[in-house]
Amino acid sequence: MPHETFWQPDRNATLGAARNWLLLIGCWKSVRVTTYRVTELADQYGSRVSIGDIIRRMRCRGCSGPPTSAELVTEEKQGRSARHKRVPIRLS
Ligand SMILES: [Zn+2]
Repeated sequence: MPHETFWQPDRNATLGAARNWLLLIGCWKSVRVTTYRVTELADQYGSRVSIGDIIRRMRCRGCSGPPTSAELVTEEKQGRSARHKRVPIRLS
């Protein structure tokens, strides 16, 4: 396997640094996943807010509970094709 040089955010990354990513927030109880564009979250809540902080603020629209899963997804372009890069975020 080639060395992975592609930058990927973690829970300490700021929204401003991860603007190209989508944030998928899941609720196991309600069986629903909501997709947010990180760039829109950054505009709304501030680019210096961290991924972990924004996840802590989120509540499920179905059951009002905290998220049970979180994942960042982006596309990595490789010539004419693109593959999805997925980064699960561990919830504390
Ligand atoms: Zn829920």
